[in-house]
Amino acid sequence: MNERTIFHEIISGEVNSKVVYRDHLVTAFEDIRPKSPVHILIVPNKYIKNLNSIKDTENQKVLLGHMIFICSKIAKIKKIQDTGYRLVMNCNKDAGQEIDYLHIHLVGGKPLGSFLEMKK
Ligand code: AMP
Repeated sequence: MNERTIFHEIISGEVNSKVVYRDHLVTAFEDIRPKSPVHILIVPNKYIKNLNSIKDTENQKVLLGHMIFICSKIAKIKKIQDTGYRLVMNCNKDAGQEIDYLHIHLVGGKPLGSFLEMKK
C-alpha cells in the first residue's frame, strides 16, 4: 500500500499551501522551506511515487511533458524566465528524496551556482 504524504493533503486542500498554479493534471505550490527566492513544487494531481513508478503509457508520458511545460509557464509568471532557473527531480535515497510523491522543484531568483560539483 502506498503511504499518504503531505502532498496528498495539499492537493486535496486538507493542508494549506500557497498554490501558484493548478489545472486538471498538476498543482504547483510554494516550497515551505525555500532554497532560493523562487522555489515552487510541481506535482501531479494523481499520485505517483517517483520517477521509478512512471509507466510506459501515453498518459504518463504526456503528464511528464506537461509538468515540464508548466514549469516554463510558472517561470514566466514569476518573471525569472530571462535571469534563469533550474528544475530538479529527486528520486530515492541517494538524491535525498524526502517526500515520496513525484515532484519537480523549480528554483530561481538568484544565481544558483554550479549544480554538478561532485562531492566524494
Ligand atoms: P524532496 O527532498 O525532493 O522530496 O523535496 C521535498 C520538498 O518538500 C522539500 O523542499 C520540502 O521543503 C518541501 N515540503 C515539505 N513539506 C511541505 C509543505 N507542507 N508545503 C510545502 N513544501 C513542503
